Amino acid sequence: MKKIVLLGSTGSIGTNTLDVVSRFPGKFKIDALSVDSNIDLLLRQIKQFRPKAVAVRDIKKAAILKKTASSIIKGLKIYEGDEGVEELAGRRDADIVVVAISGTAALSPILRAMGSKKRIALANKEALVSAGKIITDFAKKKKIEIIPVDSEHSAIFQCLDGKGSRSYLSKIYLTGSGGPLRNVSKKDFNKLSTKDVLNHPKWKMGKKITVDSATLMNKGLEVIEAHWLFDVEVDKIEVLIHPEAIIHSMVEFSDGAILAQLANPDMRLPILYALSFPERYKTIFPKVAFSEIRKFSFYSPDTGKFPCLSLAYRVIRDGGSSPCVLNASNEEAVKAFLSGRIKFTKIPVIIEKVLSKHKNIKNPTLTDILDKERWAKEEAKVLCCHS
Ligand code: NDP
Ligand code: MG
Repeated sequence: MKKIVLLGSTGSIGTNTLDVVSRFPGKFKIDALSVDSNIDLLLRQIKQFRPKAVAVRDIKKAAILKKTASSIIKGLKIYEGDEGVEELAGRRDADIVVVAISGTAALSPILRAMGSKKRIALANKEALVSAGKIITDFAKKKKIEIIPVDSEHSAIFQCLDGKGSRSYLSKIYLTGSGGPLRNVSKKDFNKLSTKDVLNHPKWKMGKKITVDSATLMNKGLEVIEAHWLFDVEVDKIEVLIHPEAIIHSMVEFSDGAILAQLANPDMRLPILYALSFPERYKTIFPKVAFSEIRKFSFYSPDTGKFPCLSLAYRVIRDGGSSPCVLNASNEEAVKAFLSGRIKFTKIPVIIEKVLSKHKNIKNPTLTDILDKERWAKEEAKVLCCHS
């Protein structure tokens, strides 16, 4: 039985992870769950999965949960605040920590989990974009396995199976469905409502990542994520739009051979692989129906229509604190768009303005990263107010 700490249990990845866990009662056991504030769903999860500990970041909500939950499960430990979430990440009892928190709030829990030598099943990408060098250096030092959950990175990880493969890798084709605006003309972007943008054709995900899919910033963040996870220069990572969303990424080797990973677009598959690795468990999820798909198509993304993708390539070439600033200003701009404060078209404009004011630190420490993140969010917030 693998004991699992699930950080971000009430989100899209979190609930999919619990669905996977519930299908393999003999293989996985939930040890602990954490949320930001959704205690109603957490309470239902506590009743079903009977964890030993939970954490609620929102202190007021944690107090309410303490009144209700402790009478339901005797001995349930309830932690609160950011420290509470970190406490769970470092739990000695667990074998795997699934990081399904959105945004850079995941950074401290990731470092804490690595400090206590846990395997990390990593769904979160923002922490890796912001502090990729710090996280990957720490993982190497502590000999920690980071197993990607993001579907493209899980695909690459699976294609690179076998010790020798990595040294022959010459190129990564990172695929993407094209997002909810693939067929919308750029001149109509000004009229887009949050509802239009949140209507993803292939994946059901949290709101932030769905907006990122619409701007193609999600692909940009994924290029940076792949750069750190697989230690590959960004010039060897090519984004390909593949609307059928069946090929989740491909790797090309020095002899020209290409391996791809294919499956239906269902996050439960990469989640299960991250939990079962190096084994594979039998599932009853629907299999790919090739005769119904009939054709696979690929084309290059339109960076004129989606400037966020070029911004992501630019910051990783600049290196240092630039990716952190891109990510933080994007988080703030997406928040402003979701709350109706700015138009969709302003998202790349705000990110670019913050980047142009940023003074890059070439080898940032963790403190530099946290400072730059605060600075970039403040700058973006002010720009959002004046838009
Ligand atoms: P959601 O917004 O659906 O869920 C986020 C989860 O994290 C919730 O449980 C939320 O709690 C919790 N949370 C939010 N903020 C904090 C915080 N500051 N501290 C602690 N917990 C917090 O996100 P997704 O599941 O869509 O995405 C999670 C991560 O996985 C993201 O980084 C995303 O890019 C990545 N990812 C997601 C995919 C998907 O299919 N959704 C695919 C690939 C990667 P509460 O419910 O209480 O707010
Ligand atoms: Mg992805």
